[in-house]
Amino acid sequence: KQSIESITKPRSEVLYKEALQHIVGGVNSPSRSFKAVGGGAPVFMKRGKGAYFWDEDGNRYIDYLAAYGPIILGHAHPKVTAAICHAAENGTLFGTPTELEIEFAQLIKAAIPSLDKVRFVNSGTEAVMTTIRVARAYTGRNKIIKFAGCYHGHSDLVLVAAGSGPSTLGIPDSAGVPSSIASEVITVPYNSVEALEAALDRWGNEIAAVMVEPIVGNFGMVMPKPGFLEGLCAAARRNGSLVIYDEVITAFRFHYGAAQTFDGLEAPSLAAIEPDLTALGKIIGGGLPIGAYGGRKDIMEQVAPLGPAYQAGTMAGNPASISAGIACLQALQEPGLYDRLNKLAAGLEAGLAAAAREHGIALTINRIRGSLSTHFCSHPVSDYEEAQDTDGEQFARFFRLMLDQGICLAPSKYEAWFMTSAHTDDDIAATIAAAERAFAVMAQD
Ligand code: PMP
Repeated sequence: KQSIESITKPRSEVLYKEALQHIVGGVNSPSRSFKAVGGGAPVFMKRGKGAYFWDEDGNRYIDYLAAYGPIILGHAHPKVTAAICHAAENGTLFGTPTELEIEFAQLIKAAIPSLDKVRFVNSGTEAVMTTIRVARAYTGRNKIIKFAGCYHGHSDLVLVAAGSGPSTLGIPDSAGVPSSIASEVITVPYNSVEALEAALDRWGNEIAAVMVEPIVGNFGMVMPKPGFLEGLCAAARRNGSLVIYDEVITAFRFHYGAAQTFDGLEAPSLAAIEPDLTALGKIIGGGLPIGAYGGRKDIMEQVAPLGPAYQAGTMAGNPASISAGIACLQALQEPGLYDRLNKLAAGLEAGLAAAAREHGIALTINRIRGSLSTHFCSHPVSDYEEAQDTDGEQFARFFRLMLDQGICLAPSKYEAWFMTSAHTDDDIAATIAAAERAFAVMAQD
């Protein structure tokens, strides 16, 4: 009988008990809890370097969580670390503009040309929240349309049928969001232009914006079907509604640029469409807190101090986050880096698929360049319903068996695996070997 000798984590157990006394649920973001994978203590990490992190008991893990996306260069990348240290030594916050912010804005604009103007904020949540406010100010309309399972942060308006954390925990509608606010949001299935058009037919002149993850990262990795984004944009524009791309996960994920500038993917011509507004976060902060939003000049001029839409932030554009972001984007310009991520993930995909086949485990892998998601099912996953209709218990079992062997995935069947530039072929081989053992055990369950 196959068995796995699992690593032990007594310190994490103790720390979890202590954390529960002081921090709500023991975690500072619900997606970190193990609630969706059977409960118990999450692993408390102490240190990270490159593709690895080590827990409080000294166990080493190969990290595919990458902090839910930002850590694309691996942990403690020397250039990012140096930039943060330099910023810290020179003062972390002035409450005045700095030259660094201009440099960073130029860097981002050069990679994503739809951004005539940008504004830096502190999180993806803030970025998305503000794009909605700006779209409402510009159009004089109140409602937005979003797609089921897409997660856009935790602001009131987008916590309706959201993916990622909320759906994992089974609370698509958060308590505390007034129904008067939820009624301003219409949710339609991803990848369905027909459903979007039907919603626009019904509420057309009330719709300020259509908000979308151009490539989904929150119910696994899901590509837009050919024609979906083109149809979405055409329908929104006919209706006088703005198109908002939430590129918090996707920007700088697949290539040096965003989903909206990516014409390297086989299927749809993503680069054929320019959104009116874009929200950014995660990777652009190099591992420090950040968000950004931007878009067409005439729309962005709605924002204070130029226009009537208010948005501000004490920490916004702080030198440490901006310096880390600049260093990260510069490092991402290294020739061949994204091809390497792609190759690593392709190898991992092939190995996982072969191992699952060998043990009779139904597994659908959605891979987009250096990211992939594993769905325990035998059907394709191209919308939220299909992502929900997968075996969560099997995922939980797999997650635990991998963790027991020092391979760290996100504790949710809806989250992606992210390659970092620090992962090696050996890491991939070790991960495939661990998955083979895990599937062997699962096949006996
Ligand atoms: N949009 C998307 C697409 C996201 O995946 C996330 C976070 N997972 C957010 C927005 C919110 O970002 P943050 O957690 O930085 O507030």
